[in-house]
Amino acid sequence: MKFQAIKGVRDILPPESALWNRVEQAARDVFHTYGYGEIRLPIFEPTELFARSIGTETDVVAKEMYTFEDKPGGLPPLGPYVPPEDYTAALEHAMRSGQIPDMQSNRAVLDGLKGWLGIMKDELVPQEQRSAAFGNWTATLGHIVLGEQLSLRPEATASVVRAYIEHGMHTRPGNVKLHYIGPMFRRERPQKGRYRQFYQIGAELLGPSDHPALDAEVIEMLLAFFARVKLTGAKLYINSIGDKNCRPAYVERLRSELQKVHEKLGADSQRRIETNSLRVLDSKLPEEQPIIDKLPHIADHLCDACREHYAELKRQLALRNIEYEENWRLVRGLDYYMRTTFEITAPGLGSQNAVCGGGRYDGLVELLGGPAATKGIGFAIGTDRLMLSLEEAGAAATCGLDVFVAWFGAATYPAAAALARKLREQDISVELPAQEMKFGKSLSLADRLGARFAVIVGEDELAAGEFTVKRLADADQGKLAEADLLEYLKKSRTA
Ligand code: ATP
Ligand code: MG
Repeated sequence: MKFQAIKGVRDILPPESALWNRVEQAARDVFHTYGYGEIRLPIFEPTELFARSIGTETDVVAKEMYTFEDKPGGLPPLGPYVPPEDYTAALEHAMRSGQIPDMQSNRAVLDGLKGWLGIMKDELVPQEQRSAAFGNWTATLGHIVLGEQLSLRPEATASVVRAYIEHGMHTRPGNVKLHYIGPMFRRERPQKGRYRQFYQIGAELLGPSDHPALDAEVIEMLLAFFARVKLTGAKLYINSIGDKNCRPAYVERLRSELQKVHEKLGADSQRRIETNSLRVLDSKLPEEQPIIDKLPHIADHLCDACREHYAELKRQLALRNIEYEENWRLVRGLDYYMRTTFEITAPGLGSQNAVCGGGRYDGLVELLGGPAATKGIGFAIGTDRLMLSLEEAGAAATCGLDVFVAWFGAATYPAAAALARKLREQDISVELPAQEMKFGKSLSLADRLGARFAVIVGEDELAAGEFTVKRLADADQGKLAEADLLEYLKKSRTA
């Protein structure tokens, strides 16, 4: 039997992982200069958190989440060998001891189970009715809630907001600025740039103000990060999707326009007319494009406050010399967004060309039970896509091995091991073969491992108190005493 990674997930191997680390470190460094600190979040949360924040009608929640019941492990498996009375007793014990939820409906199920048990055990009841009672017992058992519904996180904003509320972070001075790095999970159709476990680098700013300067600074930070990792050809698209004052009326208008062209739309868009009409604007189907082009633009239906907010955002971007393009069709697939929305695309990605999505979510903290005054804005970068785009443009990582210590003669091994340790203490990456190798094999391995230098430790070298160092790229070589060798290698070590 051969095991393989499941569909839609993948391994990121060295040396590529080194490039990932470099990119993630660049995010930490750049975000730090804007006052952001890293938050490390759980990978799973109650399903309800995502349902409430992202919205039950969104694709993410309706179709894509990995959800499971957090069952206790201690229950005996239900089967022909476990008598119903033992299983019922085990359930009761699990409920008393808090392993399964002690809730009203569960107590009712347990009472029901005991009722059926009584009938099964009563010799005076005819056999036929006792067998029927067993059927009822099994059916009733199916209604017990063994554990909480949990989901692997499909995104992290909901978790950040949950943590913000849980830890009373609104009492911290100034704006709360958090960034995160890690895997997300969505059960989508795998393709280039779309995976079931994918990675995001994201940041969130939470605080009492919704000033557009904050939105612009968040975008500036994002672009500073992209510049730091040398992403070229990134394009910024912005839009405003209004707020709870003006969006509902626009959505109504959109819906009634969509109903008029219902017949001409594909099945997905037809379904979305009722459930999530804004998402129709997101459609990539070529035959729908001329229809969508004629739909009303939200910019023409913003309330005064939203229109001013959007105008000021554009002014704030301009004063930072940030180039952008307005895209009235830019809506986000998550319900909590309002006003500012933005997306960044990068080259080399085919149709999955969005490397970052973000926007404002002023009502989310309140929706999740936090202080109503807290506003929020943030973004999430799709790291997988960012890496694809960087690699497409030629970014590559090497293994980063600095030195191969080739030793010859059993007596030299202690000196070779001691040298390897001293080099490593200087942050130099060293490979030391565990067993003696023939000279030719040893140097060929050094070469194939991509080492930049070979240091030769032989009996002659030891006697002379020197090491031979050979630069593998051009075979240039010389003899150096230990202190000089350390100095020389330290200076030419890989960054
Ligand atoms: P898309 O329209 O491409 O599906 P989205 O609107 O669902 O993106 P968001 O939820 O806003 O994406 O997530 C932000 C970013 O995360 C996206 O711009 C993208 O780069 C990345 N992303 C989202 N889903 C995936 C996935 N399944 N695989 C890889 N990256 C993803
Ligand atoms: Mg998506």
